Amino acid sequence: MNSVEAPLRAQAGLDVDTLGELRARLQAHRMDLLGREGQLRARLAAEDAATANTFVAGVEGGAAAEADDEVIAMLHHDDAELAAVDAALARMADGTYGWCTGCGEEVGVARLKALPQAELCIACQDVAEHRRGH
Ligand SMILES: [Zn+2]
Repeated sequence: MNSVEAPLRAQAGLDVDTLGELRARLQAHRMDLLGREGQLRARLAAEDAATANTFVAGVEGGAAAEADDEVIAMLHHDDAELAAVDAALARMADGTYGWCTGCGEEVGVARLKALPQAELCIACQDVAEHRRGH
């Protein structure tokens, strides 16, 4: 199955033009994330080298470790986002895109235009965030 170039069918209140636009945005976002991940990994490697060469311990070493944590947190965030984007593209290919995976209702065009990788409708998203303690 060629998931990227599969023909789009209107679904979940989305016409083919809208789906095509959202798919193009997801693909562009995916390329951005992959590019950023490369930059972050390069920065992490550079910081590791600087830390190893310059600092043994103390304030400077601590600051470098904090910077590492920040980069690692960004990488985790990007990985999660990349997974969400990939999942959205896969749902688009198999015809389940736009339907909330929580309740089965339409996610809604406005929400998908704001967040093309959205998997849940607003109501289910709220519930999920409350469960996580937000
Ligand atoms: Zn829902």
